[in-house]
Amino acid sequence: MSSPSDDVLVIAVPAQQSPMGPPDKARVRAFKRHLVESLRDLRAARHPERLIQPATPPPEGFAATVVQAGCTQCQGYCCRGGGDHAYIDERTLARVRQARPALDATGIIALYTRAIAAEANAGSCLFHGVHGCTLAQPLRAELCNTYYCNGLRDFLRLPRQPDKVRIEAARGSIRRTSAVLRRDSG
Ligand code: SF4
Ligand code: SF4
Repeated sequence: MSSPSDDVLVIAVPAQQSPMGPPDKARVRAFKRHLVESLRDLRAARHPERLIQPATPPPEGFAATVVQAGCTQCQGYCCRGGGDHAYIDERTLARVRQARPALDATGIIALYTRAIAAEANAGSCLFHGVHGCTLAQPLRAELCNTYYCNGLRDFLRLPRQPDKVRIEAARGSIRRTSAVLRRDSG
């Protein structure tokens, strides 16, 4: 992070290079298969209630605006590992099952499938859309709820939020920059 003379805090994030577009059908099928296997793992658990981890709440207000702007400019560099599974496993699904007891396996699969990004990054997670993650916090793996790249993590740890922020995403020859984000307009 750096603060140039105009008092705009510049937050540096990586830049994912692959294109955005409607997700490949084979990727969606692979994701559904992964969910079926994870639901099977959950059914096999002797104490499924012990698998449940509370979902870490998302940032709020201006912090949420800045994080979303960061992931929008970056387009999912850290989410590449999420690929066609989004790190969802029986622990995530134990939480979802507890929160939505009326949903059966088909309902859970439909819930997730509906959340897949209409325009996803081809080289990142199926849920990394044009404006960041399209999966609601209660449905995400806890890894996703707690991870931030260095630039966003340092911003979230600031004792006092700056009034103005700009995101600069860069990697290799790729450069993307956000407009100046203002705390008082959020
Ligand atoms: S948290 Fe991940 S997707 Fe968001 S800006 Fe950082 S590296 Fe990119
Ligand atoms: S579910 Fe969201 S936060 Fe997790 S890897 Fe996929 S796009 Fe990233």
